[in-house]
Amino acid sequence: MTTNAISLMASPRRGHYDAIVVGARCAGAATAMLLARAGLKVLAIDRKPYGSDTLSTHALMRPAVMQLWRWGLLEPLLKAGTPLIETTTFHYGDNEITIPLAPGSELPGLIAPRRTVLDRILVDAARKAGAEILHEVAVGDLFADTRGRVRGIEIRAAGRAAVRVGADIVVGADGIGSLVAKCVDAQPLRRGVVSAAHVYGYAPVEPGAGYHWYFRDGIAGSFIPTNDGLACIVASVPTGLFDQRFRLGHARARMDVLEALSPVLAAQAAQAPKDARLQAFRGVPGYIRQAHGPGWALVGDAGFFRDPITSHGISDALRDAESLERAILDGSEAAFAVWQRQRDMIANQILDTTDAVAGFDWTLDDIGERHRRFSAVLKAEVQALAGQPMPTRRAHSPASRSRTHRAPANQDEPPASVGQTLNRNRTGARR
Ligand SMILES: Cc1cc2nc3c(=O)[nH]c(=O)nc-3n(C[C@H](O)[C@H](O)[C@H](O)COP(=O)(O)OP(=O)(O)OC[C@H]3O[C@@H](n4cnc5c(N)ncnc54)[C@H](O)[C@@H]3O)c2cc1C
Repeated sequence: MTTNAISLMASPRRGHYDAIVVGARCAGAATAMLLARAGLKVLAIDRKPYGSDTLSTHALMRPAVMQLWRWGLLEPLLKAGTPLIETTTFHYGDNEITIPLAPGSELPGLIAPRRTVLDRILVDAARKAGAEILHEVAVGDLFADTRGRVRGIEIRAAGRAAVRVGADIVVGADGIGSLVAKCVDAQPLRRGVVSAAHVYGYAPVEPGAGYHWYFRDGIAGSFIPTNDGLACIVASVPTGLFDQRFRLGHARARMDVLEALSPVLAAQAAQAPKDARLQAFRGVPGYIRQAHGPGWALVGDAGFFRDPITSHGISDALRDAESLERAILDGSEAAFAVWQRQRDMIANQILDTTDAVAGFDWTLDDIGERHRRFSAVLKAEVQALAGQPMPTRRAHSPASRSRTHRAPANQDEPPASVGQTLNRNRTGARR
């Protein structure tokens, strides 16, 4: 029996959406969920499988937990077996400072869900709100009208003609290597100067453990309790040291760092099964990119990246998803300008205070002060979030909203084949 090779690529149900989101993890799935809850027709596309893992040590700080609580997703995360974290301990050399996590506040503690759990719950919530989410489908290009306004995406699969899908706005939530940012030539507003490498793996942990953050001259580490009775154990070093010391094997070099930080931490890491995989991230300096332009916006790591050492990327992604939703619902240029101004203000503070730790130019005498500066930024961020209205739930009818992102006349027809594609990498130049 012969079987014809067929492409199993899922296809979008419509030819046109109010919003298309490229990437469906914490920034993309959250944006899709919020827009769909507000009544927009939303498509989100991710090239990775539903519920798959990604490079991340997934420790959530208070702003992320607060957002998830506001959106009604903290309970599903706890029900999925994500342990509640009630203390955080800073180890500065041999000194320990343990901080209880805000007893009496509306949040019961912090959480560090595996990305297989967090991203899946965000996708489920987006689908429940009516968003269409396609996994294992890659966006290959954007297309624009003759005035350069982005009008939609092109999806390609081997052996099939490219499919064009139109949208009033295309949101790039496609991470560090953002195709959307490249296609629209989003300008860098700021580049960080330092980067750190992080090498991590999982080992069994007793219930009730808290976060632990370890620092000694030139090295750092963390212990992050997560799902399935495991803790994520991380060794962090400047990228330069990673290039020298980890070249000959991640496992031994990571264990050397953990032993130097704390014999207790190293012993916990040694509980991992012998064949347990390690994940390594060599480091990327932080950046802030232009966040929007005609027919497009960037959210999450696509628009702003800071070193993972302060565990703030997911908080940034969720916060910016909610404020971007407000700008999209408003639809005016002024609303997008305000959104970018607010994002830049907090992003600059987060990048400054993160690079002050990720640069490893501190001593055990001043690292505590650098953490207090970061903590003050977090506190202000939480206060700002608490003062914001809860996100809209179907208060707007997309048809009746006044928007600058107007769709072509026939919303369900695929867009006409005219219009230039934007991917410079594919063609060498815009066409
Ligand atoms: C080693 C490491 C540790 C970290 N630890 C923490 C931590 O402890 N706490 C924390 O808060 N943050 C942490 N972060 C940061 C956090 O992981 C990121 O900030 C967060 O993942 C950003 O989410 P995102 O949705 O913007 O992008 P991503 O999570 O990168 O998702 C982007 C998605 O877009 C998809 N995509 C890309 N291109 C296309 C395309 N052309 N077509 C279709 N889909 C596409 C990708 O498949 C991907 O699924 C860490 C990061 C690293 C690297």
